[in-house]
Amino acid sequence: MINRKKYCIANFKMNKNREESKEYIQSIHSKFSHDGYLGNGDKIRMIVCPPFHSLDLCQICAVVDDGFYLGAQNVSHFKNGAYTGEISAAMLYDIGSEYVIIGHSERRAYFDESDSLINKKIKISIENCLSPIFCIGETLNQRKNGLIKETLNKQIKFGLSNIKAQNIILAYEPVWAIGTGETATSKIITEAHQMIRNILNDIGFDGQKISILYGGSVNRNNAKELIALDDVDGFLIGGASLDANNFYDIYKFIEESI
Ligand code: PEP
Repeated sequence: MINRKKYCIANFKMNKNREESKEYIQSIHSKFSHDGYLGNGDKIRMIVCPPFHSLDLCQICAVVDDGFYLGAQNVSHFKNGAYTGEISAAMLYDIGSEYVIIGHSERRAYFDESDSLINKKIKISIENCLSPIFCIGETLNQRKNGLIKETLNKQIKFGLSNIKAQNIILAYEPVWAIGTGETATSKIITEAHQMIRNILNDIGFDGQKISILYGGSVNRNNAKELIALDDVDGFLIGGASLDANNFYDIYKFIEESI
């Protein structure tokens, strides 16, 4: 079995002010210290993705703990210049972010992000030393109509078109499971992750080497069972990540599974 790196990723979405983000990070830091954390970044990484305006504050923990990283929730597909309101990949790197979420279903749905835009964002992120956390997943309608493979195939092939870099993390997030409290079953997740590895192989990646995370209503009650699945290399967590205690518990389940 290949030992892929494991990830526990918090997506705050548009939540928490600076003070709340700071308290959160301090709480995580003290939990790491309490547990005698020595750094295990080669095997497991915790990544926190706060809103842009708190990224700098969250550095306190990133500096101290090997194994703790910062991620952004979005990036511009433009390099720089007259693009009011945009934040570039270089700026994210400059502020200490090493990861960026791209292709989240909320951005696809509410901001009309297409596969081709997502491809541009992935490219420019890689060019600026950021590792993309590339989200894919089918809607309930697509699932009901038997279009899972077709959907994942299209999202991955277009999203990763002309990309060779291997520092990409995939997150399988069935849209119907995000923020709904309805988690995908072990069977659904295993089938989807295997499908994704096959698609990656088809387009020239080594599907066995790329970490694939599951996202969709993960919490401290279901995390232990889900991380036991062979093909699951960690989680991208929204709602349950907003509470530092919950998020840390989920992280510990992943760590114990290694
Ligand atoms: C997400 O937003 O990526 C997500 C998985 O959210 P939740 O955990 O709340 O379902």
